[in-house]
Amino acid sequence: MEKFDCIIVGAGVVGLAMAKDLAIDGRSVLLIERHDSFGQETSSRNSEVIHGGMYYPTGSLKAVLCVEGRRLLYDFCSSCKIPFKKTGKIIVATDRQEIPAFEKLFQLGLANGVEGLRLIAKEEIKSLEPHVSGVAALYSPETGIIDSHRLMSCLADSAKESGAIIAYDSEFLRAAKEKENYKIFIKNGIDELSLTARIVINSAGLDSDIVAENAGFDLEKYHYSIHYCKGQYFRLSSAKARLLKMLVYPVPKPASGGLGVHATVDLAGGVRLGPDDEYLKLRVQDYSVDPLRRLNFYDSASKFIPFIFEDDLSVDTAGIRPKLQEPEGDFRDFVISDETDKGFPGFINLIGIESPGLTASLAISRYVKGMVSKYY
Ligand SMILES: Cc1cc2nc3c(=O)[nH]c(=O)nc-3n(C[C@H](O)[C@H](O)[C@H](O)COP(=O)(O)OP(=O)(O)OC[C@H]3O[C@@H](n4cnc5c(N)ncnc54)[C@H](O)[C@@H]3O)c2cc1C
Repeated sequence: MEKFDCIIVGAGVVGLAMAKDLAIDGRSVLLIERHDSFGQETSSRNSEVIHGGMYYPTGSLKAVLCVEGRRLLYDFCSSCKIPFKKTGKIIVATDRQEIPAFEKLFQLGLANGVEGLRLIAKEEIKSLEPHVSGVAALYSPETGIIDSHRLMSCLADSAKESGAIIAYDSEFLRAAKEKENYKIFIKNGIDELSLTARIVINSAGLDSDIVAENAGFDLEKYHYSIHYCKGQYFRLSSAKARLLKMLVYPVPKPASGGLGVHATVDLAGGVRLGPDDEYLKLRVQDYSVDPLRRLNFYDSASKFIPFIFEDDLSVDTAGIRPKLQEPEGDFRDFVISDETDKGFPGFINLIGIESPGLTASLAISRYVKGMVSKYY
């Protein structure tokens, strides 16, 4: 039976980054993915924003790995010629009552080490984004956008060049502990096969809780169950998209599943509005966009980009966040855990890798590489 140092489940941006780093580190790596290519789920259904890092509690993995990951990502994009743009972002208060909330965000950003953050007055909003309306804003010059497909394709190429094997159409079924190793059962077409690995890394995104359960983890006991929180997008007409240069966000509402419907520019000069947030009752990957939501999107966004009409919006795509946080629940951090203390030495769970998982991907990978190195 074939034996690997590390088997990684899930070829999203995080799985690919880990395959690259661990292979470069000299590990024999097998990355298994149930689809016929990488990045077919959340990693290709997001806003492609390189976040600053001001939304998350200081010291949380989300805060630390977002700030570190952003720096690593800009360097990686420059060295691998991956398209990106440091557009900058403004979080706009449209009402003076919102100012205390974003002042809090400003303090959080400073404590998290986000560079260049500034509170700006109405006049400076006009000089940065003449068509945006607001009474004050928080300006983050380090926020940007990235071509996430090129990032993943670059990571996949680099992983393979360094010796990692990527097996598509290969679904993780279950794992069983055997002395020092894990026996992994995989479905490949109609065949079921088993492989052995010293380290197993669960990076299965929306199904990472199921993968953990099928390896023997009690989801209830460890609070590992994932809730699907859908985010839909609408596209702004190209005539109106030309009026925006940077990312424009509202002040987030406490305990919401997202950051509030915002305007995201893309590398082709287009603009999308969204994502909104809706916890799904059924655990299904339903990526349809409901055209009846157009009025809600218009109502939310027209407060800070008043130059739009409802007719300027057309349905776009959707994504689903793998959330540990329950609806209206408290903040939950990423779970990135070597599960030795739970009786699973060498099993590393990554659960709840929602936003800012794209930004943090290279830092998550570096963090996991540190965990793996303890075994060698
Ligand atoms: C609407 C939305 C907007 C977002 N915007 C941003 C943003 O602007 N910036 C940012 O930093 N982050 C953003 N995110 C978060 C970011 O997209 C994710 O954190 C990141 O893509 C997670 O990558 P991943 O590799 O962990 O997961 P995924 O991309 O979900 O990859 C997991 C992979 O595991 C595979 N898999 C699952 N089960 C199995 C199995 N049993 N066997 C084999 N393979 C399996 C899946 O097929 C999938 O390919 C957003 C997310 C959403 C939903």
